[in-house]
Amino acid sequence: MPPNDGGGGLRNFFSAPLAETDPPVAAALADELNRQRDTVPLIASENLVSRAVLDAQGSVLTNKTIEGYPGRRYHSGARNADALERLAIERAKTLFGCRFANVQPHSGSQANQAVLLLALKPGDAILGMALNAGGHLSHGAPANLSGKWFKAVSYGVRREDGLIDYDEAERQAAAHRPKLVIAGGSSYPRVIDFARLRWIADSVDALFLVDMAHFGGLVVGGAHPNPFPHAHIATTTTFKSLRGPRGAVILTNDEALAKRLDSAVFPGLQGSALVAAIAAKAVCFGEALRPEFKTYARAVLANARALAAAFARRGYDIVTGGTDTPLLLVDLRRHGLKGNVAAASLERAGLDCNMNSVPFDAEKPNITSGLRFGAAAGTTRGFGTADFDRIGDLAADLLDGLRTNPTEIATVERTVAAAIGELTRRCPIYPG
Ligand SMILES: *Cc1c(COP(=O)(O)O)cnc(C)c1O
Repeated sequence: MPPNDGGGGLRNFFSAPLAETDPPVAAALADELNRQRDTVPLIASENLVSRAVLDAQGSVLTNKTIEGYPGRRYHSGARNADALERLAIERAKTLFGCRFANVQPHSGSQANQAVLLLALKPGDAILGMALNAGGHLSHGAPANLSGKWFKAVSYGVRREDGLIDYDEAERQAAAHRPKLVIAGGSSYPRVIDFARLRWIADSVDALFLVDMAHFGGLVVGGAHPNPFPHAHIATTTTFKSLRGPRGAVILTNDEALAKRLDSAVFPGLQGSALVAAIAAKAVCFGEALRPEFKTYARAVLANARALAAAFARRGYDIVTGGTDTPLLLVDLRRHGLKGNVAAASLERAGLDCNMNSVPFDAEKPNITSGLRFGAAAGTTRGFGTADFDRIGDLAADLLDGLRTNPTEIATVERTVAAAIGELTRRCPIYPG
C-alpha cells in the first residue's frame, strides 16, 4: 500500500487532483468557472473574491477543529487559528471604527440569530422591516425562526415614495414595546435614518441592531454613513459589498454586549468555528483596509446609480427613484411584466439577477413584479459607469421584447448575449 493512501486504500489521497478522483464534481466546478466568466453578475448578494481569498478559504485550515475564542480554546493546535482570528478581529475593528468584533458567524442569518439569542426570550417582541417591504427573512419573517419564536412586528415603506415609514415604526414600537429594533434590508436601496430608529428604540428601552449586509462594504469604503454610533450592535455579511468569503461579522462598541455576543455565537448558537473562513475574512478585511477599496466602494455606488439611470431612461420604474447603496429594485408592474419571466430571459442572455417582490406587490414571492440588481460584483470585474449604462440598455432591450413581442424573445436574447460576450471578454476573471 502506498504511504499516501489516506488510510483508505486510495492512491495519492493527499496529492491527486479532483479532476482525477471525482470527475463529475470536477466537471461542475469547471463549468461553474466558465459560467461565471461568461456572465455579467448583477445579483446583489454576490461578489467575486480575489485569488487570495480563494486560497485562504480552500486551504488546510479546513482540517482544523477549534471551539471558543483566541487564547481560550477547547482543542490543542490552535496556534494559527488564534493568530488568524485575532488578525481578523483587529482588522474588522479598524475597518468599522468600533471596539469589538466577532468574526465567527457562519452566515448573515446566524449573526442575526446570535443577536436575537442575546437580546430576547422566546415570545418577546422584535420590530424589523417587513419582508415584503424589503426586509430580510431573519428580521422576523413569519417563515423564519425569528418570526416563529418571537413576536415579530414590522414597519414598511410609504406607498407614495417607497421610503421607510418611520412614523409607522414609531407607532409599532409604542404599541408592542419590542426588546430589539432592527434596521436594514435585502432590497431597500436608500440610506436609513439610523438616528431616528435609535431614538425609537430608546423610547421603549430596546436594543438597536443595524444589519448592513448589503452596504457594509460601502461603509468601510467611506461611501455610506456608518451605523455607529447609533447602533448598539451591527451585523454584516462578508460576501456582498465587502467582497470576502461567505459568512458574517458582528460589531459593537459596548464591552458588556460584546461579552454576551461572544457567548451567544459560541456556545449559544454555533459549535466549532470555520477557521478557513476566518482566515479568508482576515484577507478580505486586509484588502478592504487598502486605499484602493475606497475607490472600489465609490465605483460600486456610481455604477449602481448608472444602472438605475439607464432603466429610468428606458421608462422602467426604480423603487424610490434611485439608490444610495450597491442595489436597486426595478418595479415592473406598470409594464405588466413578472419578475420570474424577466429574470429567466436575462439569464438566457448572460445577465444574472434575481426576481424580487416590490413593496405592495400583489404577486407571490416565486413570481413577483420586480427585479433586483446589484453593482458590487460587476464593479469587481472592472465594469465602469459606461458599461453599467450599456448593461441597463441591454436588460431594457429584453424587457421591451418581453412586453412587445414575447414570441420573438429568443432573437433579442441572442443579440444581447453577443453584446454581453464582448463585455465579459473585455473584463476577464481568474486567468489560467
Ligand atoms: C443577505 C442578507 C443577509 C444574509 O444572510 P445569509 O444567511 O448569509 O444569506 C442578512 N441580512 C440581510 C439584510 C441581507 O440582505
